[in-house]
Amino acid sequence: MTETAPPHPAPPNDLQVAEIEWSENGQPQSSIFNDVYFSSASGIDESRYVFIDQNDLIERWQAQDLPHFTIAETGFGTGLNFLCAAHQWLQLNTDKPSARTLHYLAAEKYPLTKTDLVRALALWPELANLSLELVEQYPIAVPGIHQLSMAKGQIRLTLLYGDASEMFAAIKQSDHPLFARQGNTRVNAWFLDGFAPAKNPEMWTDDLFQHIADLSGQHATFSTFTAAGIVKRGLATVGFSVSKVPGFGHKRDMLRGEMLSLPLATASISTRPAAVNSPYLPPWYLNIQNTERATPCSAIIIGGGIAGCCTARSLAERGLRVTLIERHTRLAQEASGNPQGILYPKLSSKSSVLARFGLASLLFSSRYHRHWLHPSGVLVLPESPADIEHFPKIDQRYPDDLVQLKTSGALVDIAGVALASDCGLFFPGLGWIHPPDTCRTLTEHPNIQVIQADIDRLEQNKQQRWLAEDSSGATAAIADIAVIACGNGSRHFAQTSHLPLKPIRGQISTLPETSASRSLKTVICGRGYLAPAIEGNHTLGATYNVGETGTALSETDHRTNLQHLQDTDSALPELFGSPDIASLAGRVGFRCTTPDYLPVAGPAPDYQQYRQDYALLRKNARAHIPVAGKHWPGLYLNCGHGSRGMSYAPLCAELIASQICNEIPPLELDLRQAIHPGRFIIRDMKRNKI
Ligand code: SAM
Repeated sequence: MTETAPPHPAPPNDLQVAEIEWSENGQPQSSIFNDVYFSSASGIDESRYVFIDQNDLIERWQAQDLPHFTIAETGFGTGLNFLCAAHQWLQLNTDKPSARTLHYLAAEKYPLTKTDLVRALALWPELANLSLELVEQYPIAVPGIHQLSMAKGQIRLTLLYGDASEMFAAIKQSDHPLFARQGNTRVNAWFLDGFAPAKNPEMWTDDLFQHIADLSGQHATFSTFTAAGIVKRGLATVGFSVSKVPGFGHKRDMLRGEMLSLPLATASISTRPAAVNSPYLPPWYLNIQNTERATPCSAIIIGGGIAGCCTARSLAERGLRVTLIERHTRLAQEASGNPQGILYPKLSSKSSVLARFGLASLLFSSRYHRHWLHPSGVLVLPESPADIEHFPKIDQRYPDDLVQLKTSGALVDIAGVALASDCGLFFPGLGWIHPPDTCRTLTEHPNIQVIQADIDRLEQNKQQRWLAEDSSGATAAIADIAVIACGNGSRHFAQTSHLPLKPIRGQISTLPETSASRSLKTVICGRGYLAPAIEGNHTLGATYNVGETGTALSETDHRTNLQHLQDTDSALPELFGSPDIASLAGRVGFRCTTPDYLPVAGPAPDYQQYRQDYALLRKNARAHIPVAGKHWPGLYLNCGHGSRGMSYAPLCAELIASQICNEIPPLELDLRQAIHPGRFIIRDMKRNKI
């Protein structure tokens, strides 16, 4: 709870939670829309009849041997439709390999609070197991995409918090009208379940129907509880057959139908560049080659740090055979080798791409690491008077389960030790992990083989398979896909030498625990960071030595870390007395950084072809160039995480896996563009630098 009133009103968090009224028989009803979430007679039976039966799901799931199936819904609400579909899927797939996944995608503009969700789901004891998993991972009410993995990966739930139309637009492969239907990412069945069009006309728009069509696969079906003319006409206009069938219970009619006529595949439209301005970005980020390739079966990952291990895991869980190649004898020996890796928040009261990506990855990683996270929370102390003014705005902008402003007494209770600071932002859901243990755990999967080799070259053979060769020319591994995830070494290869990655040295100091420091309960961040003791030691970090290449521990850097501890909070050094600097242990690593502080995640661009295809950008940054980016087929990057690998790498890994396997992405289009490996080439061409 906020303890001080903010001096200035901050921009509100633009996501409003649902306002629920509970009827006498315990049914939820929306006070915003004055409508019910489901039939008061029998919500489960209604959900099964309207959505599962009218999309013929049981017959389709029994008949087709699909590796995955995608359902999309307008209005997640209490999650009842999701739970019914997931329950049915699991019943039909008990004896199938776990790589068979139901991907359920649901937009929700007014998410229920967790308390209301728990109360609503208590109505369905037969769905209790899945409900518990949902509640455990239920995302904080922050706008954007939140991906959850349930039932040992057999269910993937992607919650799109925001307006349905805007969020469906954001998961497309491109917003360029010529490429709007690009990509194999396709929905197989639609559950159209917003409140009734008469009560919620803002949702049932022509834009929504168009996005539904654009995201639909061949023979995609839909069903909806409503039979309103606006829905019937809207869906028919974008290509669905629409029939009226009897509704559930006392409802007379409802609609169901099938996508009949997919519009022309836009890839075949002539895309000659012209020297005129365009309101649309050239689709340089689009990886059309991927949709043209056969489904991959195997992957090489180069790099055994957090980025490589997360990528290996994401692909292994999708059924690919993964060879993870590490040059050291053990995993996590470079930048991921510190004993305490912090899930470090950096929130902003503004909505920049960096802030949005940072928050999305932080929320994702706190779910991802939940089984091995040390849930100490993280306390951020102000570094300047500007921070002191800024903190209340952040507190006001975000929900309490993400961040809370703490002052004086409450601050000390949280920290467990005396502090000189008067205020701080506390993140109760964050903490720290042991990165080497995390890397080991992630790679313990039957589809992952870890081998030791120092890869010097990547070559593609005639069958478009990737060969990873060491400096003697020996092939260490061969696979359909290659992912380069080796930090600063990622630009070592001919295909990636254009990347502007820069190593920045960082040294941590290991402070032996004292009787006073033992009571530190949370990670404290400010000018530096200090973690609670583990096995008798605290990690204090980390220096930021631009341009330095020495790998030996430096006493000067230990002093810098201690000075940063003093700057973070002048009471903290007292916990440690006067440590003997000459005998302090520590560790040196090299962060892999990028000019815009965002990571590099996605398909590897073909540098020469980009320069040729987008040459007009040198003269006119808004030139009309309707040409999709040329990428190395099957080659991807996951690097450039700076100091934030623990939070950035898991989401980047899932993004890359979704791209490789043609799935709905876990990140909005503009954020995917912001971290795309081709962005630097485009930026430099616009600046006429290359
Ligand atoms: N499917 C839900 C279930 O299983 O509990 C019930 C859905 S309820 C009838 C309709 C939902 O649509 C509400 O949760 C509401 O907040 C959501 N909604 C309304 N307008 C929306 C919009 N424009 N975009 C996304 N969701 C919206």
